[in-house]
This record gives sequence, structure tokens and C-alpha cells, in this order.
Amino acid sequence: MIIFFGPAGSGKSLQGQILAIREDWTWLSVGQILRESNDPEVINIMQTGQLVPTEKVDEILEKELDKIPDKKTVILDGFPREINQAKWLVEKNILKGGNEDLIILIDVPYEMLLERMLNRKRSDDTPEIIAKRLSYYNELTNPVIDYLKSQKVKVINIDGSGKVGEIHDHIMAELARCSLV
Ligand code: AMP
Repeated sequence: MIIFFGPAGSGKSLQGQILAIREDWTWLSVGQILRESNDPEVINIMQTGQLVPTEKVDEILEKELDKIPDKKTVILDGFPREINQAKWLVEKNILKGGNEDLIILIDVPYEMLLERMLNRKRSDDTPEIIAKRLSYYNELTNPVIDYLKSQKVKVINIDGSGKVGEIHDHIMAELARCSLV
């Protein structure tokens, strides 16, 4: 399993989708699944920039993962976002810390994230909600990386501030280095 990790606006979804098309892998965006859930409670929480309760997200994700054939490589986007979600992945043996698992962490400077998100015009991309999502990211998701590293899951950093094609090339080079493509 490949996990794309990075703050909102880092371009992780675009990169995940490009990679999935190129390699015929399955891209699974938890944010998108939640948006399509049509669950008013979920949609309301998303509109505030807060995280949807983990139990709910785990349940929805498990159903989606069950639909994917065993041999298909999955690119997970937007999950885990907090430590309990990371533990859930490890406890369920979805993430095993072996050679087939890799976390791709996309780094982008704060000002660039703001600019990109304000240009997207998504309904949860107002300045106030953006600030909240970025602060949740820093608070809740950085410890996730430390936890996953402690579970021997490989983590690589990618500079996400360049052009889409360049970033993709860097990702491909890293995947090749890890013998994943
Ligand atoms: P994204 O499309 O990844 O930017 O996510 C949009 C919104 O969906 C977030 O601001 C959260 O409200 C919700 N969300 C996405 N992924 C998760 C997750 N793993 N856990 C809880 N909430 C999530």
C-alpha cells in the first residue's frame, strides 16, 4: 500500500491519481468518499474543517477496501490523519511495514498551500476553514508519521513545491528506488 501524506493543498490527490492511472493501481481518497457519502452529519463536519469521527471513517474505508481485489496496489489518500487511524491500519494488518508499504510525504511551504487552496474554490476552501485544516494537520498528523516510522513503515519526503510533472518524476524515481515500480 502506498499512502500519500501531506496537508490540504499539497497536491497529494493529483499526484495519487496520476500515479494510479500510470501504474493501474487503485486510488482511494477518503475525503472524496466522505464527500460522496451524502451523510448530512459527515458533510456538516467537513464544512467546519474538523475531522470526521474516526469510527465512522474506519467503517467507510473498510467497506471500500473490501471491494478491491487482493493483488491490486492501493494508493490511500487522506488516511490516516490521526494516530488512532494509523493504529487501526496496523492492527487490521492493512499496513504491514514490509517492502510493499510506503508513505510519500509531500512538503509544501505554508504560503503556497494557502494560495493553491484559495484558487480551488471548493466549498470548504474559505480562509477560515483552510487555517483550521492546516492547524489540525500540524497538530494531529505529524505524530502519525512518527508512529508509522516506529512500526517500520518506510517514509519518504517529496518536495511538492515544483511543477506537477517534476513532482511526479521525483515520486517515480523514489518508487523505483524502493523497487515498487
Ligand atoms: P480532503 O479531501 O482530504 O482535503 O478532506 C476533506 C475533509 O474530509 C477534511 O477536512 C475532513 O473533514 C474529512 N476527512 C478526510 N479524510 C479524513 C480522515 N482520514 N479522518 C477524518 N476526516 C477526514
